[in-house]
Amino acid sequence: AAKATEAKAAKLTMATNATFPPYEYKEGEEFVGIDVEIAKAIADKLGMELEIADIEFDSIITGVQTGKYDMGMAGMTVTDERKQSVDFSDSYATGIQAVIVKDGSDIKSADDLLAEGTSYKVGVQLSTTGDFLIGEDYAKAGKEESLITKFQSGNDAVSALASGKVDAVVIDNEPAKSYVAATQGLQILDSKYAEEDYAICFAKNNTELKDKVNGALKELIADGTVKNIIDKYIKA
Ligand code: GLN
Repeated sequence: AAKATEAKAAKLTMATNATFPPYEYKEGEEFVGIDVEIAKAIADKLGMELEIADIEFDSIITGVQTGKYDMGMAGMTVTDERKQSVDFSDSYATGIQAVIVKDGSDIKSADDLLAEGTSYKVGVQLSTTGDFLIGEDYAKAGKEESLITKFQSGNDAVSALASGKVDAVVIDNEPAKSYVAATQGLQILDSKYAEEDYAICFAKNNTELKDKVNGALKELIADGTVKNIIDKYIKA
């Protein structure tokens, strides 16, 4: 006799870039981090099965826009420009754009980077807010665009700093901490370059899923789950 097929949970595919600790990274073959755990909690609440696609950060928005993935979650900052391509959930965390320099650098603050008469070489991760911010500010300050080098990953930007190819890296503060901890002779400046909100992105026509995720997120924020997950990875 034919066996009754068991109802299978619908899949929730999340596009991310697992090189961004403590939000998403790999421990062996396993995806871990704040975003991964929050996404799992959301999927559980919705009775869905989370599936993670680890792709270039630069490809997440297009992948979500075209419906290849249900959502993008990657320590992604909400910006007006991105809002023209995707919709965002409510914000679940805040981020800071930080400046990393070599120990003993002349660059003592974020403002020093933009000071008149200077021409510091800056490394960024391609298509991140660090990339956009320094690009705009360098343009405003009349500095050469060629002073900015765009790397595919934050780690590559930090390696370039360690080997003296760039003078500073503008990047999200939490991954900056892991990169700096793993490399000798680097430090994060106390002055912040910018403060930002992280959220999950969806295709513009997918308000049904966005609303469901926002509903789950609201509950997970209200009952302390989101805070517990963040506190587990970020020690005050
Ligand atoms: N928060 C930054 C951005 O959204 C960087 C995110 C990332 O590299 N994963 O652009």
